[in-house]
Amino acid sequence: MTRPVFLVGARGCGKTTTGNALARALGFRFTDTDRWLLETTQMTVADMVEQDGWPGFRRRESEALRQVTAPGTVVATGGGIVLAEGNRHFMRDNGQVIYLQAPAEILAGRLTAFPQEDQRPTLTGRPIADEMADVLAARDALYQQAAHHIIDANRPPEQVVEAILEALHYARAS
Ligand code: ADP
Ligand code: MG
Repeated sequence: MTRPVFLVGARGCGKTTTGNALARALGFRFTDTDRWLLETTQMTVADMVEQDGWPGFRRRESEALRQVTAPGTVVATGGGIVLAEGNRHFMRDNGQVIYLQAPAEILAGRLTAFPQEDQRPTLTGRPIADEMADVLAARDALYQQAAHHIIDANRPPEQVVEAILEALHYARAS
């Protein structure tokens, strides 16, 4: 079973960190829609937003999702990928979708502790914890709609990976 695995969730939920480890455990390739965009356009998310606005960025992101989707691939998606209904259907139809769910305070804490790892501009310029609470209020239902499996991401990365493997019914190679 080599259908792609899509990881969805807000910034800081661990899509990149967990996705890399998951790909290793499955013997899959790892790909990140944000990184793919950066490499193919030579622009950061901030550059793209500045040039084309958020709608322009969302269009590029949707295109990136389709380009990176292939068998035997773990795909870490951007936090806003689920905003487009077409992306939610695309992921559900083409692979297994995993929602890495964690409370807003936890996500904000991680992003505050390691701000340099996330180059995406804030959406509103407000404090990250407030913004994250609003983002989750708006998107949690969409992440849940898109997902085949909802995983508690508020635990160490190894445990998150283990829980995903269990959800995917993969036996762990130990
Ligand atoms: P995303 O790709 O979803 O935005 P990242 O994987 O980049 O999230 O993780 C954001 C930050 O949180 C990183 O500094 C990472 O080391 C940390 N992190 C990720 N997953 C966990 C976890 N399960 N527990 C604690 N910290 C984590
Ligand atoms: Mg990431």
